[in-house]
Amino acid sequence: MSNTLSNKGLVLIVEDEPSQMELLSFNLVAEGYDVLKAESGEEGILLFRENEPDLALLDWMLPTMSGLEVCRQIKRTKDKNCHVIMLTARGEEDDKVRGLDMGADDYIVKPYSIKELMARVRAGIRSKSKSQSGDILEYGPIAMDLTRHVVTVAGQSISIGPLEFKLLQLLLKAPKRVFSREQLLERLWPENLDVETRTVDVHVGRLRKAIKSGTNQNLIKTIRGFGYALDDGA
Ligand code: CA
Repeated sequence: MSNTLSNKGLVLIVEDEPSQMELLSFNLVAEGYDVLKAESGEEGILLFRENEPDLALLDWMLPTMSGLEVCRQIKRTKDKNCHVIMLTARGEEDDKVRGLDMGADDYIVKPYSIKELMARVRAGIRSKSKSQSGDILEYGPIAMDLTRHVVTVAGQSISIGPLEFKLLQLLLKAPKRVFSREQLLERLWPENLDVETRTVDVHVGRLRKAIKSGTNQNLIKTIRGFGYALDDGA
């Protein structure tokens, strides 16, 4: 890595397979990203703390500390803004859910197309810089101003409670992503494990009602038996 960082973004790769590591770093560097390479989870954590990368690509299967544990530790630090993409083996749906529970922002299944992966990296870096600089999250007619703590729907401000605000912020950061009720519960009440998943439904209901007051669209979709997603159906 050179000493002068490009402004495209710094990507941490944690991958124990040398050929995979080469493929990833080659393509990232070719697109102008700066790259940090770690062959183990422990090394990845160290590099993360020293450099605060914008994005981390974490292989799930690592020799000692798993990619999942690396993700958990990264998301526990102050720089929670690091966008984490988990690289998991084919068909491990449980892993996918567990990864998202640990705070991973995205996942991609091996063997992946490098084109697809690079698209996810670009999107991840973009969402990160948006959430840092603009402080405005938008989706369809909804706009959330994080500095002024104001939500507007089709230009009209709506009044929502602090939990609904937090919930909407979470959904706006990842439109179309389906969150399980358990995931929402964990994000909204990280310190209180006694809260029931039904409580999530109550707050989603309130938020949905508030949004509907400004638009005819139902933007919060229910995924029966699982959870919710912000989705305009387009
Ligand atoms: Ca591996």
